[in-house]
Amino acid sequence: AGQHKWNFGAGPAMIPRPVLERAQAEFLNYQSTGLSLMELSHRSQPYEDLNNKAQAQLRQLLKVPDNYKVIFMQGGGHTQFAAVVYNLIAWRHHQNGTKGDWRQIPVDYVVTGSWSAKAAEEAKRLGANLRVVCDAKKALGAYTGIPAETTWATSDAHGATRQADDEAGQKPAYLYYCDNETVNGVEFPYVPSLHDPSVPLVCDMSSNILSRPVDISKFGVIYAGAQKNIGPAGVSVVIIREDLLQTSELKDGLPPVALMLDYKTMAKNNSLYNTPPMFAIYISSLVFEWLLDAPSQRVQDGDASIYPHSSFVGVEAAQARNERKASKLYKALEESRFCRIVVQDKAARSKMNIPFRISATPKGDASAIVDKKKDEEMEAAFVAQAEAKGLLQLAGHRSVGGIRASIYNAMTEEGVDVLIAYLKEFESQY
Ligand code: PMP
Repeated sequence: AGQHKWNFGAGPAMIPRPVLERAQAEFLNYQSTGLSLMELSHRSQPYEDLNNKAQAQLRQLLKVPDNYKVIFMQGGGHTQFAAVVYNLIAWRHHQNGTKGDWRQIPVDYVVTGSWSAKAAEEAKRLGANLRVVCDAKKALGAYTGIPAETTWATSDAHGATRQADDEAGQKPAYLYYCDNETVNGVEFPYVPSLHDPSVPLVCDMSSNILSRPVDISKFGVIYAGAQKNIGPAGVSVVIIREDLLQTSELKDGLPPVALMLDYKTMAKNNSLYNTPPMFAIYISSLVFEWLLDAPSQRVQDGDASIYPHSSFVGVEAAQARNERKASKLYKALEESRFCRIVVQDKAARSKMNIPFRISATPKGDASAIVDKKKDEEMEAAFVAQAEAKGLLQLAGHRSVGGIRASIYNAMTEEGVDVLIAYLKEFESQY
């Protein structure tokens, strides 16, 4: 009982209330088995059914084409930073007829925030021939937008270099980017176009998967850790085009991939190669069901009247709702005298994670002297008073500070309205 809480945490993030209630109701006795789901064998029929159901739901939500596999893996986003390197270098090495040294095969990274930067670092650490084809921090001074595609070292502007590389057997294994940078609040408003369509596009969608429709056919690999827009930490979703499944083996002159990182092994075994994170997959499946199921969303939102029935369900409806939520919050921040939105490039502003700074110096007052210490105190006060009102986890990522409101699918419009009202109230104190 007590005060209602709104969770603005970036991840682990809010899970829809009807999902938690359903899990609670089924906790001790899963589908009349007399056991909790966690106690079932992962080889049992009820679990196999659940595994298949969760995959089918995700395929339905994202309209995954038949020539793609959906895989559940463990180890979170960080594990995928490594998995893509091993798996796709192995694939490219085979495309090259297993000739040449795998260390020469380029891997191209677009770096637009701290997560793609970390992924690129991991590729380098594993010995890959890393090429950062776009570095937003270098281009813009900070991670506050997405440099135009024409400036990337993969673009037609650099076509000549690329062609020479390709002819020298230097085709990159893949082009990597992060669709939504959770820490920096930078989200791609488009899918990058490829100079060379035979280079697979690899995308980290950890913090915006299922927030909007996506044309899966444009991608080689999409992955997402669950703990933001899907479910609990412990499971990651991988969507991979079948022809990219290639096990790497020592005899091919490649470093062998640990089987747990090997997409082909996971796909071949229907994500049941070893004991999967069953509970995390179960909750994810309930979230998928929630997204596919109109009535439960309607109850949760309490604003059924504004949703026409047919357009209410699925990722399309989630997108409409997410756009409304984000646009009203950005508008409130723009109108505020004290709040500054971190991401300057309006087109690249995330609909999921909204970082902002609070300053005692009102906007537009060029003569005022900025007192950094005072601003930080004000931000701390903002977070503390928010907590007292049940608006939780609004502090920015520890690496950047400030404030960050994460408003994934599970955050209701009402929650965003409550935050906006609090923003105005806080400002009126000063
Ligand atoms: N990628 C993105 C976009 C993320 O937001 C995160 C986590 N915040 C990660 C990767 C890393 O995920 P994990 O903590 O599951 O390794």
